[in-house]
Amino acid sequence: MLCCGNLVRDVLVGPVQEPQWGRTVWVESIVDTFGGNGANTSYVLARLGIPVRLLGAVGDDRAGDEVVSTLTEAGVDTQYVARLRLPTPSTVALVNPNGARAFLHRPGASREAFREPFDLAAHHTAGCTWFHLANVFGLPALRPHAASLLKQAHDAGLAISIDTGWDSRGEWMATLSPCLPYVDLLFVNEDEARELTGAADPDEAARILMQQGARAVVVKLGSAGCAFFNADDHFRSPAFPVQAVDTTGAGDCFTGGFLAALQRGYHHREAVRFANAVGALSVQKMGGTTGILSFGETLDWYRRCQAGL
Ligand code: ADP
Repeated sequence: MLCCGNLVRDVLVGPVQEPQWGRTVWVESIVDTFGGNGANTSYVLARLGIPVRLLGAVGDDRAGDEVVSTLTEAGVDTQYVARLRLPTPSTVALVNPNGARAFLHRPGASREAFREPFDLAAHHTAGCTWFHLANVFGLPALRPHAASLLKQAHDAGLAISIDTGWDSRGEWMATLSPCLPYVDLLFVNEDEARELTGAADPDEAARILMQQGARAVVVKLGSAGCAFFNADDHFRSPAFPVQAVDTTGAGDCFTGGFLAALQRGYHHREAVRFANAVGALSVQKMGGTTGILSFGETLDWYRRCQAGL
């Protein structure tokens, strides 16, 4: 897998009822970890035993060293993660006792990553069969070149997927539309599907996205699981009934699970079940990827769930 996307240093602080200006509030935990859609998805793929190379950028600072070394230790090939003369993208998440979160984000290196059109060379794609763009909207400077990057991946013979992410600039289809003709598999959540297409119904949204070129669409539906659409098949798949404590990163975990299952030769109907299991493992732990298990452990977990154990 060749994965492209943002890398972030995440600091999770909680529980916090209300921050109080001028006072010190004691909290139970401050966890320094990594996040960002590119980092999360490639970490999940590596954890599930899929060889993965990541394209992205961090700063030339200690936070950048830490994020990159954590991913490298997990087995992600980080040799093409650029080190820019900017701070590493960072998020502080305040978590309240009910699990609701307030995010403070400094984009840093994410603002400039892929500012110049990227030349996807043979050494980037060597050994890869699939290119995944994690959160096309999370890398603002990539927007004008995203379709050209996908075309290069397509011309190199790679299958292509995108997980759109949320567009805080509100450009939505203007950015995504030129990309869609290259997309074999598009991941969106329900809100993103509605913003992109104007259709509140996931079936209608998927139909519009496929009309614009996506060959298959997966709509992530949170605790309701997901819906899958391609030219020959469409169905919903329920989520696993678990106690969610933190849904941050669930979408990346789901997508990493789906892609890992496809890489292992699963049919899309089985891949959807497996992806729901990886999403369910993610939401049961604080932190985007803390709950992720190996491929075999995930299979054991979901077989036990299905058997009602
Ligand atoms: P995103 O993070 O992109 O918004 P979702 O919130 O839809 O994506 O979550 C992705 C997937 O994670 C879902 O499709 C589902 O499989 C799983 N998931 C999310 N929330 C829950 C939950 N409360 N219980 C069980 N599974 C969940």
